[in-house]
Amino acid sequence: MSWRWLKESVLGPIGVPEPYRQDVRANLHARFLQFTTVANTYGLIVASVMVLILLQDHHGLAEHIVPIGVAWFGALALIVNQVRGDVRDPASISVSRILIGTTVASCVWGSLIFTVINHAQPEQDLYVGLFIACVFCAGAFARSSMPASALIYSCVLAASIMLALVLDKRDGLLQFAFLLGASVIGLQLFSILAARRRAGRIASLRALERSHEIAALQLQEFEAQSADWMWRIDDDGRLVDVSPKFAQAAGADATLLQGERFLALFAPEAEEHFDALLRSRRAFRDMTFEIQVPRGSRWWSISGTPTTDGGYKGVCSDVTRRHEAETKAAFVSEFDHLTGLSNRAALVQQLEAACAGASGPGDEFALLYVDIDSFKTVNDTHGHAAGDEFLKEIAERLQDAAGEDAFVSRLGGDEFAVLLRASSRDMADEIADHALDAMLAPVIVGGREILGSGSIGAVIGPGDGADAATLLKHAELALYRAKAQGRGCSRFFEGGMEADARQRADLESDLRRALFTDAMDLHFQPLVDTRSGRVCAYETLLRWNRPGHGLVSPVAFIGCAEETGIIVPLGEWVIRNAVKEAAQWRDDVTVAVNLSPEQMRNPSIVQVVVSALSSAELDPGRLEIEITESVLMKDSEANLRTLHALREVGVKIALDDFGTGFSSLSYLRTFPFDKLKIDQSFVRDIHKTPENQAIVRAIISLARDLGMRCTAEGVENEQQAAILASLGCTEVQGYLFSRPVPAAELPKKPAAQSADAPNADVRNLASRRTAAGPN
Ligand code: C2E
Ligand code: CA
Ligand code: CA
Repeated sequence: MSWRWLKESVLGPIGVPEPYRQDVRANLHARFLQFTTVANTYGLIVASVMVLILLQDHHGLAEHIVPIGVAWFGALALIVNQVRGDVRDPASISVSRILIGTTVASCVWGSLIFTVINHAQPEQDLYVGLFIACVFCAGAFARSSMPASALIYSCVLAASIMLALVLDKRDGLLQFAFLLGASVIGLQLFSILAARRRAGRIASLRALERSHEIAALQLQEFEAQSADWMWRIDDDGRLVDVSPKFAQAAGADATLLQGERFLALFAPEAEEHFDALLRSRRAFRDMTFEIQVPRGSRWWSISGTPTTDGGYKGVCSDVTRRHEAETKAAFVSEFDHLTGLSNRAALVQQLEAACAGASGPGDEFALLYVDIDSFKTVNDTHGHAAGDEFLKEIAERLQDAAGEDAFVSRLGGDEFAVLLRASSRDMADEIADHALDAMLAPVIVGGREILGSGSIGAVIGPGDGADAATLLKHAELALYRAKAQGRGCSRFFEGGMEADARQRADLESDLRRALFTDAMDLHFQPLVDTRSGRVCAYETLLRWNRPGHGLVSPVAFIGCAEETGIIVPLGEWVIRNAVKEAAQWRDDVTVAVNLSPEQMRNPSIVQVVVSALSSAELDPGRLEIEITESVLMKDSEANLRTLHALREVGVKIALDDFGTGFSSLSYLRTFPFDKLKIDQSFVRDIHKTPENQAIVRAIISLARDLGMRCTAEGVENEQQAAILASLGCTEVQGYLFSRPVPAAELPKKPAAQSADAPNADVRNLASRRTAAGPN
């Protein structure tokens, strides 16, 4: 127990660290002032009661009244002084002022007790004892926060009591003095302990407040430095401790936000979601919500943890930019930028959902796979910008035709898909018809009219496929079928299509390989001059020795070669080899080569022909190109240019399969053909049906009038040959004379030219009528 401790115990805050001393002192002083005021008032009431008791004894009224009155008014003055005293700043009241005040107060109460003891009758001792105990204890207790004051008070009062008792000459003074001393010491110890405890409590409270302040400062600093800001709500969801940064982000004044509901800042949907999160009373991290601020919508990433007081606190950051970028990316990944329709990925999602949702017979849905016919031509003729406009228009028409509930998407290029949920086959068929009609109407782009059409392959899910990939594959197969059957129509998927497709895929891969494996061969079929009976030309007919299939006719693979583009290198190979063969024949024998529309469209065809002729050193007049009407039906302008270019080179042009097309005569006007080849279908029954004979007669006379030669194909018997000769047909071709035979079997130049008997060729060839090979 050091001197300092003793001094502090009596005079000031005990064991309180420096930063809090002032605070603790102020608190103790305030408590002292408050308690002593109460104690004095209480003492005054008790004293008043005591005075009334004393006044009952009328004997000494005059001599009693003066000292009692003085003491009573003294006590009143004390209270008034204390109430009026400067209690607003208790820390500023000095200890010495308190001690002086205490001394004065002690003397007032001491003199009052002295007077009471002195003037009371012995039978009133009980009242007097009670009065003294009340005043003594209340005063000492009220001063417990200031041990020095308590000490002065109890000592002065004890002294007054003892003095009064001595003057009153009472018995047992020593024992009483001992009891009084013990009470003074006890009260003093109590006062020191109470003051110490209180000082300690206040100091630790201040320390806690200080650490809170430091934490708040640190948070403010964190907020100022980072892009994030803090949020905190109470148990009623109302914002507390709104920081300037929060207010800035929310676009409102911090004081206005304080006490507002946090949820009020959220967009309606986000509000619901956030409310559910708060109710869960669980912590959450980096959840993005739409917040409504005065200048529009912002997106905040919010993390939060529940607080012990039933509220929440956490951090926010503005992620509007990131959110917008993500939304844009999501749009790009789900939508087609040109038409604004959904894209393939989105369709696949929808299809998967439709498959997953389909459980019973009523849950059927349809998928229409739409392809624009010859879109490439639209692009080539009108340009890509017009092509884009065309696609946009078609997209709109498809959506209109399919109805609002249909999910229309663009799969890429000129392909679209329409998903019809809850649709039967009949409904799908009807909508497919609407869509086909919609695509037929002319599209006006830049003042020009573009005519188009589409083909549709349809599937009904989930029967035609249990997942998106299968459904799309089957719809595409059905589309192939629609295209193969003339385009501009729709076809539903059927089981056999898959096998067909597999066969086609096999055919295609075998065909690609054939070019490199010498599996292709050329056969030649003679064309016989009806007047001389001599072979005037050979038609080149392609043969494919396909592994496992034997010798395959071009009818089985030309279509596939055309669709896959294989026809271009294949056709070039045919031209070069046919021309090479022809160079070995008699000089007056021509070689005919069939050219399909796809080959004609290839701009390098003229060059190929020229280079083949020059490398074989063959006179261009000995090459005849056979084309069909279809060459002139599609891309006619470009093809006509190619035909003219070939003709300028000196190559002859024949129109094959004449009579089977739609407007044969008009084509004869567009290009000056060298020859017409009458289709075998008219020749076959020429000796049986007069109609066919009439047609053939008309074609022959037409050819003659226009200065063209004329070949009748498919002549199989003498009767047909005789009729054709009588009708004036210049050339005949068919099994009657020879089947197509390999080049090796044809007469070569020296031998053929030396054997100049006029009908030698025909006789030789006629002996090979039954030669092997298809057709
Ligand atoms: P095409 O140009 O009309 O050829 C005539 C077809 O009739 C040939 O069939 C020939 O073998 C067949 N034929 C000839 N005489 C008779 C006959 O008396 N009776 C019957 N029933 N048929 C006869 P092939 O060789 O199967 O060729 C079919 C088609 O394939 C050709 O029809 C032609 O359009 C096309 N083709 C053949 N080779 C080529 C080629 O190298 N390139 C192109 N692009 N197409 C070719
Ligand atoms: Ca032909
Ligand atoms: Ca023909």
